[in-house]
Amino acid sequence: MAKDVNVLIIEDDAALAAQLDNTLKGFGYHTWIVADPKEGINLLQSNAFSVVITEMRSAKMNGARVTQAVHKISEQTNVIVITLYSSISSAIEAMEAGAYGYITKPLNSSEIRIVTERAVERYFLLSGSKDKEFLVDLAVRDGLTGLFNRRYFNELIMVEVNRLKRSPATLSVLMLDIDNFKNYNDTQGHPAGDVLLKDAAKVFKNSVRPSDIVCRYGGEEFIIILPQTEKKAATIVAERLRVQVGLYLPTTVSIGIASVPEDAQEISALIEKADSALYQAKAAGKNKWCAA
Ligand code: GH3
Ligand code: MG
Ligand code: MG
Repeated sequence: MAKDVNVLIIEDDAALAAQLDNTLKGFGYHTWIVADPKEGINLLQSNAFSVVITEMRSAKMNGARVTQAVHKISEQTNVIVITLYSSISSAIEAMEAGAYGYITKPLNSSEIRIVTERAVERYFLLSGSKDKEFLVDLAVRDGLTGLFNRRYFNELIMVEVNRLKRSPATLSVLMLDIDNFKNYNDTQGHPAGDVLLKDAAKVFKNSVRPSDIVCRYGGEEFIIILPQTEKKAATIVAERLRVQVGLYLPTTVSIGIASVPEDAQEISALIEKADSALYQAKAAGKNKWCAA
């Protein structure tokens, strides 16, 4: 773990703050704890924090407002909100206000690790840090596109799906495959194909929320995790992606959609469903999305 990564914890429940503090210290982060959001915001004026973890339902300032206040001072600082399983909708409200992610109570250390790790890494990517030592783990990223790779996707989806087992909530995945990519490589050349893959990665990232997780799954296949997103909303995202690709890239994309718990409860079944929905989109003529 890189040193000198500052994480600010805004939490008025002392026991919870201590638990979070212990866990984060165990992962090598330098932690600061305050009970009052205003005090936390003040600290941001004089110190650089990679991540702010804040209670969603603070009496003084809710997570969405803390997020906005943090971003006013430091745009690249990522905010993670702490929420109860039963009030996950409030986490969505914070993500709409720009929060990077959420962790749920009761706290779970692997969830804390993975959400914080991603947020820290994003901070250093956004800050344009040349210091590779700060990047948490380059092995989690695909060398060509900079997206999360398949190995890390497997870890991320496990955290997301496990969360759902403890709460009645939903999640969708989009499996995307560039249409006729072999032909593009054959006619334009392999280097041009590489450029197209990089550009596709950018279009995908720019078309979804920061809290959505875009991964390169294989050659010209991508997978996007949409936390807290039901199938109807996922179809809207898929259509937006399809349209954006048509606007900005010299190609089209086909997309398969599957959701938890509607289509599957286990990861392997979920991926299979998304994959066969993708196959249907291809069979129906490409440049389409299909839902399981
Ligand atoms: P479909 O519309 O049915 O998806 O057809 P397709 O041609 O896109 O799919 P196919 O699976 O036949 O071909 C995928 C191609 O992607 C073949 C492979 O050489 C190419 N490819 C895989 N990884 C890379 C890469 O990193 N760079 C480049 N340039 N091409 C790649
Ligand atoms: Mg393919
Ligand atoms: Mg293809």
